[in-house]
Amino acid sequence: MDILLVDDDQVDRAAIIRTLKKSNLDVYIEEAITVNQGLELYSKRVFDIILLDYSMPSRDGIEMILDIRNEAKDSGTAIVMMSTHEDENIALECIKAGAQDFLTKADISEKKLRRAILHSTTRHDLEKKLFQTYQQVKQLAETDSLTGLPNRYFFDESVKLAITNNKRNDHILALLLLDIDNFKLINDNFGHDVGDLLLKKISTKIKQCLRGNELFSRLGGDEFAITLSNLESSEQALHVAQRIIKAMQEPIEIATITINSTVSIGIALYPCNGKTSEELFKYADIAMYRAKKLGRNQICFFEDEMQQKFHQRLEIELALKNAIEKQQFQLYYQPVIDPINESVTGFEALIRWNLDGIVRNPDEFIEIAEETQQISAIGLWVIEEAISTLSKWNHNRRKPLTMAINVSAVQLCDFTVVETLDQCLSKYNVPAHLIEIELTETALFKDSVTSRQILIGITEGGCHLSLDDFGTGYSSIAHLRNHPISIVKIDKSLMPVDMHDIKNTTLVKGLVSMASILGLQVIAEGIETEHHAQLCKQLNIGRAQGYYYSRPKTEYDIEKTYF
Ligand code: GH3
Ligand code: MG
Repeated sequence: MDILLVDDDQVDRAAIIRTLKKSNLDVYIEEAITVNQGLELYSKRVFDIILLDYSMPSRDGIEMILDIRNEAKDSGTAIVMMSTHEDENIALECIKAGAQDFLTKADISEKKLRRAILHSTTRHDLEKKLFQTYQQVKQLAETDSLTGLPNRYFFDESVKLAITNNKRNDHILALLLLDIDNFKLINDNFGHDVGDLLLKKISTKIKQCLRGNELFSRLGGDEFAITLSNLESSEQALHVAQRIIKAMQEPIEIATITINSTVSIGIALYPCNGKTSEELFKYADIAMYRAKKLGRNQICFFEDEMQQKFHQRLEIELALKNAIEKQQFQLYYQPVIDPINESVTGFEALIRWNLDGIVRNPDEFIEIAEETQQISAIGLWVIEEAISTLSKWNHNRRKPLTMAINVSAVQLCDFTVVETLDQCLSKYNVPAHLIEIELTETALFKDSVTSRQILIGITEGGCHLSLDDFGTGYSSIAHLRNHPISIVKIDKSLMPVDMHDIKNTTLVKGLVSMASILGLQVIAEGIETEHHAQLCKQLNIGRAQGYYYSRPKTEYDIEKTYF
């Protein structure tokens, strides 16, 4: 039997060791004189029993018990606490903390010690078995036996806990209720067993749409629930729901049967929809009912405003799909001006979307186009359109104009950008140095091997890279150093309000001189007043754009005004 003896008193230790040796037990003893030393020995090997002194300097015996019993892996060592004084309260305190027996040192005899050791180890074995049984019962009580997912009971408790935890921060918590559409038909047509298998397969499918830190449960029947905590926006809940709807489009095979199953999803949000788990369940249920009523296989938010936002988004997403074929996109061009003589040096191409007579700005659709990857096709269309227009405008022109083209971060995953640029430049006979590809810092943050190669490809082909919105966001100098950028566009928000706005004036001056030291060209954006234009002249900013010179105009209007 392996024994760890923890006692600061050398005389007591010697007495106990003598008693142990006489007790007829086959013992191996290790000694420690402090709790910390005892814990260190305990962490290194497995002991059958710890004989532990109650009162020791710095840390006492109870602290050692608590440390051991609170460890994730309790090695199953029994503990006998020993004290100089007979005290019922201390004895109880030790047992409650996790000791199996309590002895008064004065009473320790061979017989008593032997009995305490044997009883404690047996008692501890029984306690361990009891705990394992408790865990098994708990598992059964909290798990759905068909899918192995947490059941309604566990889910309810966890949602309450998640709400309490979420109260400490101001993040959103979303409750998603999912109900399989027309599930009764499956049972009726193929039998209950196939229905059961389908429930299992669907639960696996849904699980694959989750990252693993969400709470996912089968509430009962064909109803499932998910809670997503710590969300920054409701959109994140929508993304998860959309992933599930999409995953369900894939047919499910059960033996020789192919089943096309769909789900309806209702979403309620904490704290805006409800502040308790009961309210959240009620509202998610109402939203789910609405999804069923609207024709199933869809997502509904509880709140009208979110519902509307979601539908608008969905409409835009669908309409974008054939916007190119329907020729709904148009490029507007904003002149880029030399502030000294106010002559045009080039243009920035800006996309507009004419949908049902309403001209939409990029901020209304580009983000959605990026999320749905439709930006790639749109981006290529922009490149071709802008280069062909520039080719027309530069025809027979002594001092050729430049063209700035915006490229999204998503487009930096695909080499077709570089290929399309090269093809268009030769097709329309435009020298590459006249093209300035504008990127935002977000695009540079991706910084993957592919995006780097694409940026190098663009500059090796002769086009310039220009960094948009410079001076806002992170404006990391590392981006300027690590990427082949030759132009920075100072963001319009930095333009001083008037001559008294010293702060912004100094900031712009600083950015211009930094760019000049780094050998970068500067374009000032947001030139809206005479004062802005004067500042550009003063600071020797080579190029500028803004409403003071001209708003973005259609190709036709540009030609009318400038050619
Ligand atoms: P709806 O689109 O309106 O949801 O129609 P539904 O046919 O899916 O009907 P509903 O969700 O109201 O009913 C679910 C059915 O699921 C009811 C019951 O017959 C069946 N069901 C409940 N539990 C189980 C189960 O454990 N196994 C199987 N195979 N079927 C179950
Ligand atoms: Mg159903």
